[in-house]
Amino acid sequence: MSNHKSTQLLHLDRQRNIEHGSLHQPIHTSIAYGFNEAQGLAEVFQNKRKGYAYGRASNPTVNALEDKISLLEDGIASCCFATGMAAISGTLLSLLQRGDHLISSAFLFGNTNSFFNTLTQLGIEVSFVDATDVANIKAAQQKNTKAVFVETIANPRTQISDLVKIGDYCEQNNLLYIVDNTLTTPSLFQPKSVKASLVINSLSKYIAGHGNALGGSVTDCGCFDWSKFSNIYDIYKKKEPSLSGILQIRKKGLRDMGGSLSAEVAHKIAIGAETLDLRINQSVQNALQLAEFLTQQEEINKVYYPGLSNHPQHRLATQIFKGYGSLISFELDESIDCFDFLNKLNFVIVAANLGDNRTLAIPAAQTIFYEMGAERRQSMGIAEGLIRLSVGIESFDDLQADFENALA
Ligand SMILES: *Cc1c(COP(=O)(O)O)cnc(C)c1O
Repeated sequence: MSNHKSTQLLHLDRQRNIEHGSLHQPIHTSIAYGFNEAQGLAEVFQNKRKGYAYGRASNPTVNALEDKISLLEDGIASCCFATGMAAISGTLLSLLQRGDHLISSAFLFGNTNSFFNTLTQLGIEVSFVDATDVANIKAAQQKNTKAVFVETIANPRTQISDLVKIGDYCEQNNLLYIVDNTLTTPSLFQPKSVKASLVINSLSKYIAGHGNALGGSVTDCGCFDWSKFSNIYDIYKKKEPSLSGILQIRKKGLRDMGGSLSAEVAHKIAIGAETLDLRINQSVQNALQLAEFLTQQEEINKVYYPGLSNHPQHRLATQIFKGYGSLISFELDESIDCFDFLNKLNFVIVAANLGDNRTLAIPAAQTIFYEMGAERRQSMGIAEGLIRLSVGIESFDDLQADFENALA
């Protein structure tokens, strides 16, 4: 078999011996599965054999996608959800308990930030720290700290977490290390390489890629010793402890909370994932050129992109990522109204998504970061005139012409 993930991914379904030599895992629409012997159904319920019982907990089409995500992340098992937020909330609510403490990056996807505020209402303490320096993680650690949560590249200001050192720190202190890899995807970065315990991906973004499917996943990298994690329920403790974490997530976080991915959507995401490498390489190249172009414009005061040599974590990004991602944000000169500017763009669409094939722009403070208020925005470095771009796969010439025109 090939050593290249992109080749392996294209051939993974065929290894399942699908009827008629089908190249794709079929879309299984049934939510129930019949057993000729009642014992078989009982064994599936008791986790004594692999199989399917009810669609909310597992489905063969979704399972084929889970295998693909595990392949891409080099993980031991994955669990898919209906959205990225369902993956994040299902994972944390199934693994943390009242009285636990979570250390989180302060530079966080807006809805994750909002959800972590909900966790504090449920009696789970959360400390938001500047995760670009492991020293801040150390300073925040308490006796009841259970987990550390970071994103690879933060949205919108593109700060990069101190991923390598946080991995070492979590390993030494036996902390669960959860990395949201959405902005880099396994194509540019595998969090397993920095000893992540669990990797979150919003499949809605680059992995599905076409802005037509919502999904999320969590992958266990196999680095964490679950036998030392006191929150695993006895019933989910396995003889082979490596799988007890993902089992508890699947039972408590997916089955009980019910944010299940449908088979139809899992199929769409799997098709999108086949071209992940091609798409992300094109968008990263476009982003690099566009970031350089934007820095040369008088009307633009600041450009944030990890591929620029003046980015504070440029060296780290160069060391550990295969590319700098396709998220750019910039601040227009105060003399320019950011809404007027956005309205003049033609190919670039004003829209809230990221990781689409199309280039999308959004005024961050007035939209996705509106709910958190001015003070928290300021602490995250989000200026009121900040525009976030998610660069797509168009021809670069067209993008450049669009910005030239809007700036003129
Ligand atoms: C979009 C996003 C999420 C949430 O994913 P959904 O699929 O929209 O629920 C989580 N984390 C990051 C970094 C994201 O960009």
